[in-house]
Amino acid sequence: MNFIPARGFVLETRNFAETDKIVQLYTVQLGRVKAIVKGVRKPKSKLASAIDLFTESSFSLHKKPSADLYVLTQAKVLNGHSDLKKDFKTITALQILADLLVQSLHDTEPHPEVYSLLGETLGALKEKGDEPESILTAFGLKFLDLLGYPLELNQCVECETILRGKKAILIPHRGGALCEDCCPSGPTRLRVKQVDLEVLKKLRSLPMEKAHVIKMKPLFSRNLLLTLLEYVERTIEKKLRAVEYYLKVMPVED
Ligand SMILES: [Zn+2]
Repeated sequence: MNFIPARGFVLETRNFAETDKIVQLYTVQLGRVKAIVKGVRKPKSKLASAIDLFTESSFSLHKKPSADLYVLTQAKVLNGHSDLKKDFKTITALQILADLLVQSLHDTEPHPEVYSLLGETLGALKEKGDEPESILTAFGLKFLDLLGYPLELNQCVECETILRGKKAILIPHRGGALCEDCCPSGPTRLRVKQVDLEVLKKLRSLPMEKAHVIKMKPLFSRNLLLTLLEYVERTIEKKLRAVEYYLKVMPVED
């Protein structure tokens, strides 16, 4: 049996059979992988702490050529990110992050830049977890770039009019913003004002640890995040279930 060493974050876990769990991992070496962790729900399992949401661990994985799932046999916690898990606000932010990664990334496609971005995002949340929305929006923008769907925010993707001072509509599958002349109708949520475009551009250009310096009113910040997440959902053609939960438990304080 060939054991593959991999370093990664845990994105999702669910119970399976009597004492097992199935986990989604995001690893440097293998990209996103699904693995079974046998016996991990037994009281004395040594693997339990390594498969907490967003714990970063080194794993030992193996897989039969015919199998769908990897088997996770050993793990060593590298960073438990326990600071992030003490607070309900950051936990729910992590769930959005996990959902974004699980839904957008293809299986076993390594993407070291995404891995680094994820590490930087967790670092930023650790510093400024009380204001997670600008950090999540910045992550979403940078993540789209890395996935090969950079969001055009400077000029209309149709007529190339510079959008400075104008409203626009973000249209997935067209690569970003269209001016109102080129796109008179479109999803309400994806209509953006000049100020939205400017803040999105700023968030994308700042290093992750600086995303929080852009001060936004809570309702503005919430709407910008929801706009971006809807753009991502329409781009990847999948629903992010964590968003609905987030809205339910995190009412906006304005
Ligand atoms: Zn146009």
